[in-house]
Amino acid sequence: MKFERYGIGIARGMMVTFKHLFRHPTVSQYPEQRLNMSRRTRGNELIWNNVKCTGCVTCAKSCPQGAIHIETTVDPATNKYNVLKIEVDTGYCIQCGLCVEACPYEAIYMGYSVERAKYRRGELVQANEMLLASPDRPASGYMNPHIARELPRQTLLVEKIVEKR
Ligand code: SF4
Ligand code: SF4
Repeated sequence: MKFERYGIGIARGMMVTFKHLFRHPTVSQYPEQRLNMSRRTRGNELIWNNVKCTGCVTCAKSCPQGAIHIETTVDPATNKYNVLKIEVDTGYCIQCGLCVEACPYEAIYMGYSVERAKYRRGELVQANEMLLASPDRPASGYMNPHIARELPRQTLLVEKIVEKR
């Protein structure tokens, strides 16, 4: 007959519990604590450079979702396009990055934000000045390695834990 010591299983279970009590946390306390995302991330927003943009509309034509709408007019003095309106419906955008890849003038970039929940559908549409870069809206380095080099390194969970030690 096999001899069994009662309570051994409970003691082992308690040892595992105590061991986990003294481990470093393995999750960040979002949203107060945030890890850096990949430098080449494709967030749910676009960043537009109004100086570089020529109004060629290539980005709008390449969008499989029809999420970009551009209105232009021809400047008779220079015979060049002026962009009257550029509108991106981020509700339709699938963050594929094709518009960024297609732009021949590096005038449109993927953004970083993934927090785009809104109460109203219309608030998902961004136009003109709303699309410009700002400290709160940095351009991602997707398709643009020279931008990626300037961005902070991605923070992985393991690195975050090592930082705390
Ligand atoms: S990322 Fe893709 S879906 Fe979004 S606007 Fe650009 S081409 Fe369209
Ligand atoms: S493809 Fe580039 S240059 Fe052409 S309209 Fe779009 S953002 Fe402007």
